[in-house]
Amino acid sequence: MDTYKLMNKAVEFHGHSCPGLAMGVMAAKYILDQRNSFSIDEELVVLVENDNCSVDAIQALLGATFGKGNLIFLDYGKNNYTFYNRKEAKAFKLTARAGLFKGKDLSREERVVKILNSEPSDLFRLESVEFTPPGKAKIYDSVSCSKCGEPTMITRTRERTGSKFCIPCFEKL
Ligand SMILES: [Zn+2]
Ligand SMILES: [Zn+2]
Repeated sequence: MDTYKLMNKAVEFHGHSCPGLAMGVMAAKYILDQRNSFSIDEELVVLVENDNCSVDAIQALLGATFGKGNLIFLDYGKNNYTFYNRKEAKAFKLTARAGLFKGKDLSREERVVKILNSEPSDLFRLESVEFTPPGKAKIYDSVSCSKCGEPTMITRTRERTGSKFCIPCFEKL
């Protein structure tokens, strides 16, 4: 997989070129190079530990998306990515290394170039991990909120005195 082609595809989705996106491109490229392919359904599940620019590269290049439910977000503030391949029952974790730009005064664009020309092992610690994927995305029925009437996924309703409310209405009760 050509790194710059992948970067262009990611930029098309994300809107701009930046070091964070480049990190995501390198993570996605590594996974694609490991005989994984773009996830049409939920063949691939990705667990991310941040919600920065890099995650858009994961969505655009690997098909692990917020909407499909095969992108799981943990709000840990770390540039770590765990990839679960359901078909092969394999999991792989990429953990960002510290100090990539330590002691270097580089512009944003210089950082992007440096990242895209790095070896994956320079950017991430690479390791196989236990295959313990999050459960498949479920589809739930909706019910109408007793106050605003808007259809609300049943698992997100709150109950009071036998009536079901959506979260914003419940919080205002
Ligand atoms: Zn960005
Ligand atoms: Zn409501």
